[in-house]
Amino acid sequence: MIVVMEPRANDQLVNSVVDKLKSMGFDIHLSKGIEKTIIGAVGERRAEAAQAVEAMPGVEKVVPILHPFKLAGLQFKSERTVVRVGQVEFGGTKIVNIAGPCAVESRDQLLAAAKAVKEAGADMLRGGAFKPRTSPYTFQGLEEEGLKILAEAREVTGLPFVTEVVNPRDIELVASYADVLQVGTRNMQNYTLLKELGRVMKPVILKRGLSATIEEWLMAAEYVVSAGNWNVVLCERGIRTFETFTRNTLDVSAIPAVRSLSHLPVIVDPSHATGKSKLVPAVSLAAVAAGADGLMVEVHPNPSEALSDGPQSLNPEEYREMLAKVKPLAVAMGRWA
Ligand code: PEP
Ligand code: MN
Repeated sequence: MIVVMEPRANDQLVNSVVDKLKSMGFDIHLSKGIEKTIIGAVGERRAEAAQAVEAMPGVEKVVPILHPFKLAGLQFKSERTVVRVGQVEFGGTKIVNIAGPCAVESRDQLLAAAKAVKEAGADMLRGGAFKPRTSPYTFQGLEEEGLKILAEAREVTGLPFVTEVVNPRDIELVASYADVLQVGTRNMQNYTLLKELGRVMKPVILKRGLSATIEEWLMAAEYVVSAGNWNVVLCERGIRTFETFTRNTLDVSAIPAVRSLSHLPVIVDPSHATGKSKLVPAVSLAAVAAGADGLMVEVHPNPSEALSDGPQSLNPEEYREMLAKVKPLAVAMGRWA
């Protein structure tokens, strides 16, 4: 629930409400605005607590939070969250362009990809070092060697990078190299991983589960946020439907839906959504038109030789052409790319 304090409520009045709620077992999240202070309280004994604090001096009103996601919800925090990664801002006016190969395959491949996407205008590099593949017999990633190569590419290009962490025991290692940690679709409900990521103060890109509802996805974000890490970027990457022509189905409506429910930024991965490079530019434009805060696109210097996800990867020239279309659309949407 949310306790809205009267504009003239001083610290002493705020503190006594906070103490009361804490004594009833609530977790408190204070938001001190210019006008008034808002106390977010998450706990079990809601009806009892509402009654107890409603009559306390300085309290204007007590509002229940209707959704199961509390901290990730717009009701709790109406100001949009901006997740900062160096100069890059997710949820600001700029559409963030993330690009790079599905997997780090070799130093040459990754450096070529990094330089090409930088030249095309990307803000951030992507590349998997730990690859959660559907088949155990396919390429599983270079692991720490891959992280070192990504760090070298950052040195060379100045681009920060995002890479997936699959296992809680690898978080420390991956976080020691990466600027942003990615939770893959298959791990969206790995609650041990999510809780651990809540304790690391590194931004997290949280992909939507293959068959997760919007509410389940926001509850996954709630795990990270409630453990203390508010730097969460949601990523729609297509969901399972009956359609098999595309690898998944991009849920375009999830973008405005999430923006109406949560203050967290939301980006789109058109590559895993479609599985087909030819469809990626059009779907990217649709995502920007629907209000996405960024695009994460698989780009490979030579897609036909990629060790993973070649058919959905753009080559650098195709990515450049795609961005040339994204830019004017972003401007038409009151943003820039
Ligand atoms: C990826 O980004 O390379 C990836 C494996 O994505 P997803 O988890 O969405 O399948
Ligand atoms: Mn991939």
